[in-house]
Amino acid sequence: MSSPSVSANSFVVALDVGGTSMKGGLVSDSGAVLLSERRPTPRADGPDAVVAAISTFISDLAGSGDGAPAGVGLAVPGLVSEHSAIYATNLGWRDVPATAFTTLDVPVMLGHDVRTGGLAESTLGAGRGLSDFLFLPIGTGIAGALIIRGEPYGGSSGWAGEIGHTPVFPDGEQCACGQFGCLETYASAASVGRRYSQRAGLEGVRAEQVVSSDDPIAIEVWDEAVEALSLALATYTLLLDPSVIVLGGGLAEAGPALFDPVRTRLVKRLAFREAPPLIPAALGVDAGMLGAALLGWRAAGRPELGPGWAVDVRSEPLVS
Ligand SMILES: [Zn+2]
Repeated sequence: MSSPSVSANSFVVALDVGGTSMKGGLVSDSGAVLLSERRPTPRADGPDAVVAAISTFISDLAGSGDGAPAGVGLAVPGLVSEHSAIYATNLGWRDVPATAFTTLDVPVMLGHDVRTGGLAESTLGAGRGLSDFLFLPIGTGIAGALIIRGEPYGGSSGWAGEIGHTPVFPDGEQCACGQFGCLETYASAASVGRRYSQRAGLEGVRAEQVVSSDDPIAIEVWDEAVEALSLALATYTLLLDPSVIVLGGGLAEAGPALFDPVRTRLVKRLAFREAPPLIPAALGVDAGMLGAALLGWRAAGRPELGPGWAVDVRSEPLVS
């Protein structure tokens, strides 16, 4: 970790907490990523160990700046409010207050991981300047950020955006969530790999191998994924009239092999209105950390920061 010269209060600490790793950084008031670092999430050590690891990470990052950070922003999974990590199954959290994540005396703001990524795509990335769109990262799972009037929408209780668990095939396979026929069961990167492996009698085939294969089983599995996505996106389009749909996550790396067939089928499904353009996300793996930086500046009382930042996005492969 380098030690840049940063003047007091001109930076925030931003952290994107995932199930397997955490990406942290220092971000200036002009959007410069002064440093960034990735650490493993010690999930196996229990909920408190993860909170402690986050606190240490924040202190270490802050210690590389000159003076105290102006704020801290955290993107975390599960059910989240600005002030509390209410419930996260995969990390075992229940009602962890924002203040528990750092020993520093600075304002902290929490955000839902996907919605925080959506905030970054909205302010700095593919959705810049658009007021209403869907940000849909397709990785191990599928969850969406509904950007409505420029802000991610959490719904009445914070559960908005679970498009991955909308039923697309009523008599379909059971999802890990307990429901049947969920979009995620057919179209997440993990599901595409799993469904192909099962049918072909193989083990551990990855989604990107399925997408690019001309094996008839692969074609069938991919076709079902595309069908599921086009159904869910048609519903979203009719319900919320997005100006674009931003596809991200590991599966979006498939490029035209994903975008072209989904676009064609979405257009076919919609009879009385045009389909919104499907465009790739712009911020890649940095979306969560950059969104957390925007939250950190909001915590610091600088909600106007963000638009106008020129963000330098490095090409780092997405983990699906
Ligand atoms: Zn489900």
